[in-house]
Amino acid sequence: MPELKVNKEESTVEYAGFSFLLLTDLNLDVEKVGFHSAVIIDGHDRSFIRQIVRRIRSHNSPDIYLKPVFILKGINIIDPMVNKLVDGTLFSLEQIELIIPEVERILTKTGELHFTNSLSFEAQMIEKVISYMFTCEIQDLDPIPYIYSANNYYYPILSVNFNHKDEHMALDILEIAEREGVFDSSYVDKVYLCSGCQNGQLSYREVCPKCGSSHSTTEDIIHHFPCAYVGPLSDFTNEIDDQLDCPKCNKRLRHIGVDYDKPSVLHECKACDHKFQDFNVKAKCLACGQDSLVEQLKGREIRKYSLTKKGQIAAINGFVSTSKDIEEIIGTVKFDTFLTMLKYEIERLKQTEGASNICAIHLSNPSQLYSKMGSEVQKVLLKDLVKVIRSNIRTSDIISFQSSSTIVLSMNEIPTRIANKILTEIVEMLKRLIATSFKDISVEFEMEVVKLDYKLSPQLHIQQLTKNFG
Ligand SMILES: [Zn+2]
Ligand SMILES: [Zn+2]
Ligand SMILES: [Zn+2]
Repeated sequence: MPELKVNKEESTVEYAGFSFLLLTDLNLDVEKVGFHSAVIIDGHDRSFIRQIVRRIRSHNSPDIYLKPVFILKGINIIDPMVNKLVDGTLFSLEQIELIIPEVERILTKTGELHFTNSLSFEAQMIEKVISYMFTCEIQDLDPIPYIYSANNYYYPILSVNFNHKDEHMALDILEIAEREGVFDSSYVDKVYLCSGCQNGQLSYREVCPKCGSSHSTTEDIIHHFPCAYVGPLSDFTNEIDDQLDCPKCNKRLRHIGVDYDKPSVLHECKACDHKFQDFNVKAKCLACGQDSLVEQLKGREIRKYSLTKKGQIAAINGFVSTSKDIEEIIGTVKFDTFLTMLKYEIERLKQTEGASNICAIHLSNPSQLYSKMGSEVQKVLLKDLVKVIRSNIRTSDIISFQSSSTIVLSMNEIPTRIANKILTEIVEMLKRLIATSFKDISVEFEMEVVKLDYKLSPQLHIQQLTKNFG
């Protein structure tokens, strides 16, 4: 039996070669998490547990946010966010051997991941979510109804990164991730958000259509069949008994459905005395106070997201950038535009003789490169790469990013042999550029030139162009 070593001063426990950080409300230093195999939260206080789980899972460093987290004393966790974000519970430290396999499994999974410095905040969030799903072996990202959520539904590992007023950004990020092919999704529900601040905690009221006040009374309208009189219930009541008498013909009302009925109701506003039959419905935002008609609220779909094969690969290799991030690099066109122009060039070659080519330059170790630089530096590097390429090709040729590691370009109306020569020169210049700008980073490039063949589709050309890249 391995020995259980408890160090009260340091708040650590060692067992079987693993070190656990014990977090109590007196010991809140989340930065220390990175130095241990796992975290055990002393769970006597629910709001403390919620706060500390949030702080660990919303941390920027994978060393911290991916750490196995357990709760000691096994109090019944009823908070669904906490439930989704912890890896288990313990009744006492003597049970620590029971969680060892889980700790080992998560640490092994974490060891398989490569992390990059993503180009944008969106890409960074996507990388975080998919890495967490990978280490926990979760296939689906389920929205959970959550009382503390600003949008009523919470995607724990994603939403936890936002403060209340920005939580709606989680929905945008999931939509981007789906467009990037990282997730598939299916419909779950719809929520309505304040058009001013996108908060979903709203107070709905029926209000006067004239002045907007929610202060009103409601009365039945009565229709007396024998004399056809129609009026509010108060016209029919008397002070002596609870019977109803018709104010027009003075007959006593007998049975509803036989001699009278209640065709509708009448509301009376206590603020402006307006009498009306149909309310407006307004929603008052509990965050910013804006009171809007429900028609003006922003409806948003809440969907369940499942990791695709592409998403699993991105989890392992790191998710560097969204298409939007690289579309913003000056001097390039969108990859879709590149494909369209390629299609036209292939069409043109059917009519004329001549040689046109597409070329690709591929960075073979992008995660190694990107993990060493911040996102701003990465953008500068990509811009510089484009500048070098641009200055070596004709203005009529176009450049595009297929991904953050593959640049494609056209070299129309020149022999393939020459295109090859120019591309080799460009790669040499790129190598020199990186060697002078980033001294301790070595980058390997691969390149390929494909001569356009008017019998083949644009997609086949691209396949041929990139099939040998690692
Ligand atoms: Zn009114
Ligand atoms: Zn009557
Ligand atoms: Zn609002």
